[in-house]
Amino acid sequence: CGIVGYIGHPSASREHDALEVLMEGLRRLEYRGYDSAGVAVVADGELHHRKKAGKLANLAAELEERPVPSAQVGIGHTRWATHGGPTDLNAHPHTADEGRLAIIHNGIIENYAELREELLAKGVEFRSETDTEVAAHLLADVYRTDGEQDLTRSLQLASRRLEGAFTILAVHVDHPDRVVASRRNSPLVVGVGDGENFLGSDVSGFIDFTKEAIELEQDQVVTITADSIEITDFQGEAAEGKAFTVDWDA
Ligand code: GLU
Repeated sequence: CGIVGYIGHPSASREHDALEVLMEGLRRLEYRGYDSAGVAVVADGELHHRKKAGKLANLAAELEERPVPSAQVGIGHTRWATHGGPTDLNAHPHTADEGRLAIIHNGIIENYAELREELLAKGVEFRSETDTEVAAHLLADVYRTDGEQDLTRSLQLASRRLEGAFTILAVHVDHPDRVVASRRNSPLVVGVGDGENFLGSDVSGFIDFTKEAIELEQDQVVTITADSIEITDFQGEAAEGKAFTVDWDA
C-alpha cells in the first residue's frame, strides 16, 4: 500500500539515518490506510528486518525492543493485505536468498500461483501466504542463476515474468550501496536528494527531505545510489522518467 526507500552516503556528515527516513515516510503515507508495517535495512554486511501487524506504533515498539543498527540504506512498507491475512508473517518485507535479500511490494501478482509451483519444484520454502513472497524468491532465483551478480539486471529479468500490478523495491547485502525498484500498473516516484536519494509510492514518502522528484513510467526499473539514479525499461535499455518539483508545502 505505502512504499518508501532510502540510500545515503556512509561517509557524508549530513546523511540521515535510514530508519528515521523510513519511519517518517511511512507516517506520511498512513493516510492511505494499512493493516501492517515493516522495514529492512542493510548494515555491516547483514540484512535486518522487522515487521508487525497493526499500526506503525506496533512496529515502533518492536524496533524499540529489538533495535536495528544505524544504516544508510533501507526500505519500508505499509501493507493492505490482498493475499494472506494481516499477520506478522505476511507483513512485508519478505526475505529470500537465505535472508540476504528483502523486498516490499504494492499491488497484486496475478500469476503468483504458477510461479509458486515452479519455485516449490526447485525446493524453495515459503513462509507466508502472500503473492509478494513469490516475487522475492523469483528475484533471488534469477539473481543466483543469472550469474552476473547484478541486482538491477535480475530485477529487470524477474519483472518480465510478473503479471498484474506491482511496485517492488529490493535491497541485497551484496549491494549495500543501492536500492533497486520496478513498476508495472502501480506508481513509483524517485525523490532526488544531494548525496542521498529516495523512493516512494507517492511523494509523501519523502516530502520531508526533498521536493525534487522523478515519476517513473510504465514498465520501468530504477536503481538509486547516494549519487546516481539510473532508469531502464524491463529489457535493460536506458529510459527516462518525468521530472517535476513538488509544489505543495507539507
Ligand atoms: N498483495 C500484497 C499482499 O497482500 C501487497 C498488498 C499491498 O499493496 O499492500 O501482501
